[in-house]
Amino acid sequence: MVLILYGLISCFKDTIPRYLVMKKDKRRRSRSCKTPKASEQKTMDDNYYGISSLNYLVESFSLNSSQREVVRKGKGRTPDPRYRRKNGSSSLVLAAIARQSGGKVDDIDLTALTSHFENYVKTVNLILSRIFKTDRRAEILGEALSNYRGRAYTLLRNERDLCYQHNDEYKGLVYERLHRNALEHAGRTLMADWSRRQLFNTAIAFLHGSKDDVLRLLRSKHIPSDLIRRVRDQCAAVRNTGSGYHYALGVLRQLRLAIDSHILDTLGVKINWRGRQRKKVASLLAKGSLDFQNVQRLVKRKIKSWAKDGYPFAIPQLRSYSLDFSASTENSTSQGYWFSLDPERENEVLLHLKLPPGIDGREQIDSPYKSKTLTFRFLDWLPRAATEDTVKANRAKKISHLNRVEQLRFRAAKFLDMHEQLMNTIQFQHVTHQLSRLKHKKNSDPKVIGRLADEARRLKGSRRSAPPRLLLRGHKVILQIPFLSPNGTVSSKVFRDKVYTTEAGADRGLRVPVALSVEKDTKFVDLLISVEPLIAKRMLLRKNASVLQSKVDKRKNNWELKRPEQAYPQFLSRKIRHFNATWEKIRRLDREIARIIAAKTVWFCEEHGVKKLFFEDLRGFQGHAGSKDLSWSLNANLWGKIIDTVRYMRESLGHSRYSVWTVNPRYTSQTCHQCGERGFRVNDESSKIKKQGGEFFYCIKCDAHHHADINAARNIIHVQSKSSVVPGQTT
Ligand SMILES: [Zn+2]
Repeated sequence: MVLILYGLISCFKDTIPRYLVMKKDKRRRSRSCKTPKASEQKTMDDNYYGISSLNYLVESFSLNSSQREVVRKGKGRTPDPRYRRKNGSSSLVLAAIARQSGGKVDDIDLTALTSHFENYVKTVNLILSRIFKTDRRAEILGEALSNYRGRAYTLLRNERDLCYQHNDEYKGLVYERLHRNALEHAGRTLMADWSRRQLFNTAIAFLHGSKDDVLRLLRSKHIPSDLIRRVRDQCAAVRNTGSGYHYALGVLRQLRLAIDSHILDTLGVKINWRGRQRKKVASLLAKGSLDFQNVQRLVKRKIKSWAKDGYPFAIPQLRSYSLDFSASTENSTSQGYWFSLDPERENEVLLHLKLPPGIDGREQIDSPYKSKTLTFRFLDWLPRAATEDTVKANRAKKISHLNRVEQLRFRAAKFLDMHEQLMNTIQFQHVTHQLSRLKHKKNSDPKVIGRLADEARRLKGSRRSAPPRLLLRGHKVILQIPFLSPNGTVSSKVFRDKVYTTEAGADRGLRVPVALSVEKDTKFVDLLISVEPLIAKRMLLRKNASVLQSKVDKRKNNWELKRPEQAYPQFLSRKIRHFNATWEKIRRLDREIARIIAAKTVWFCEEHGVKKLFFEDLRGFQGHAGSKDLSWSLNANLWGKIIDTVRYMRESLGHSRYSVWTVNPRYTSQTCHQCGERGFRVNDESSKIKKQGGEFFYCIKCDAHHHADINAARNIIHVQSKSSVVPGQTT
């Protein structure tokens, strides 16, 4: 089971650029943690969004110090002898390093890398602080960027205090190429922040003009969707982006938080938990409340002051420790990273990083950066994974499990294609480097030059991977390499010419995460996707987490009362670590669940020749009526991730970009898919008594029972004929 899961998981995208990823590390805060400050604004998932049209498949590789042996799975696996636990003092030191580095990276390398990261982060933040020196400047630059078609750095480097040449501060922190990345990074952040500010100002102006809408916003539990839509439609900066609705929702939520805090602070009410804050404010503004007049005046004044003097925006800052080389796709040495193959060990690759000024590295034979080099080693696991999948496919063929054979053969082909891309990239780097060196030398053989130039031309046309990213996650260093998605080329080899004619609908089910229905010649094939074992595991972890949390909170409080200035004792910090680790596990599980669901969806669609797939869109995601007492309800983040993954996987299988749509799910759960009449929920297949949240759906006109989720999924297939025809979304 574990192996299969691992296989399923590892084959899907880890999603594309970092700023697209829904980062969860900060979002799922424990309840007792203090509520966010009203003045802190962030993007939707605490992250900056950008829209990338490029589709890459990102795979991760864990990095080792160059002298270390890479531990391989399976046969011949031997741990590094330097790592064996011995008695005596040296084992302590080793253990400490192992703890710090996850047992793979030496302390000294880790220190160098961390400073490398720090310099980069400092540079980005320095740039941001200059851009945001005045609101006016940020406004002008943001506006200019939003109308600019090229890379952000090419625009920003025209500013005198942002360019590399005239600023020694940058020169002390990074080399020129890295400064360009920092500029690009800052540019994306500025863009995200700018459109968010636009949306904020629109929302404030909107609320300023309408007293009733302010009341509705503050009184209701959920943010009214017509309010969200109106704010979105009034803001030019987001109107045409697919996520406009979601952005507007986030902004209104944040504004509501700011207003709530203002009210409670002014009245001197202290409540920590956000949910209770909300209830309190709603009750203050309820009809017939004694404080109504007073509070309403307060709100009005606050919104007026924002409308007049502007909202107190914070300056965005980069905090994450990651290094992105992807502002360009050239493969010269000046990019700051250099791959070389280990001559002795099979499938092991060395990654040389160019270190910025002020940080010393170690000289390496293959590295073009001389003493400014920091070298890591990683295992290219792709060919091995491909072999394993082929073996598995053959085994599945013996028991004539044909769908599985198809899946495995496709995955094997994909891994091989990726391996090929990586090898091409490395070769391309080396050939172009050699070529430019020979060209600069006197008396070099023109024949050799010609041969190399041909080789370079061939490699330039071949499939290559994009520049990598480096991440520091906890104490682990991870290398991510984006590969070209195997669109068409790989799948046509495996599937030959398959015909796709049917349509499918996917509904977010109440009892299972996804209900899927494929329409084939007016008949339906259905699938309820459940991931029960994982969900059971998740529930157990959640339970553990909440127990741990109450313990930690109590002890923390006690300690802070008794010894306010002192650091937490060991037993407590250990508990806190344990708590954080539990949450990390839960999040990992969520990602697994999303991937498994996406995979099941996609392969079911392959089996039934689905051409177009419709999903319920995200607008209904402010909670699911009746889902509170059920064990499972997908949150918006997870649903979005599932859709993205499905879209991506289908593209990689050679389907059109417009083969996955999202549609408005309004009434799909209340309408009979056969006759179109309204029906209602009932408890079981014989009942005709209305029951909210019941498992089955009953239609009086047809006198028929359907599984409620499947009925909705079938309805979703036909929604698109009534809505607009914007591919990928209907708004
Ligand atoms: Zn009916």
